[in-house]
Amino acid sequence: MGVDRLISLIRDIPDFPEPGVVFKDITPVLGDGKALTFLLDALAEPHKSSGVTKVAGIEARGFTLATPVADRLNAGFIPVRKPGKLPHETMREEYTLEYGTDALEVHMDSVVDGEKVLLVDDVIATGGTAAAAVRLLRAVGADIVGFAVFIELAFLGGVEKLDGVPLHALVRYD
Ligand code: AMP
Repeated sequence: MGVDRLISLIRDIPDFPEPGVVFKDITPVLGDGKALTFLLDALAEPHKSSGVTKVAGIEARGFTLATPVADRLNAGFIPVRKPGKLPHETMREEYTLEYGTDALEVHMDSVVDGEKVLLVDDVIATGGTAAAAVRLLRAVGADIVGFAVFIELAFLGGVEKLDGVPLHALVRYD
């Protein structure tokens, strides 16, 4: 098992969810026990001695990866969710999409001030979603030590929006 095996399991779906987008479908990776274990270990490994006490995942595919990564780092999990889903007091951050805007929310009490947080998602494309998550987590007091992602669509330049947060991508498409 290695990164090449993961790459062979990533399925390209042209024109999903809209014309012109090639969607990176990771469900074949999630559905393969050995590949899933390798992926989760590889996402967690660079952060083993970073002092991370919370791992934040972006709804929804980010949750699938962030919670087991948190477990591997003996850290807690923070859900970064679409508006209206979290039940307690929340903070909201809006961000621009190709057409219109969207928003993310976290619970106000999801971190203590200065707590070291690792952000996790499946894919970074334009970086707008991750950038909003970074602003939001910082606003509630997080010290974001890195962004661990399975797939970087590097040709879209998302890393530039991360405001200095180090990006660790397992697979990069140039
Ligand atoms: P972006 O804000 O453009 O970086 O988009 C990031 C979010 O959209 C991530 O949470 C991804 O899950 C999803 N996403 C964007 N583009 C793709 C793609 N080509 N394949 C799979 N997921 C994508």
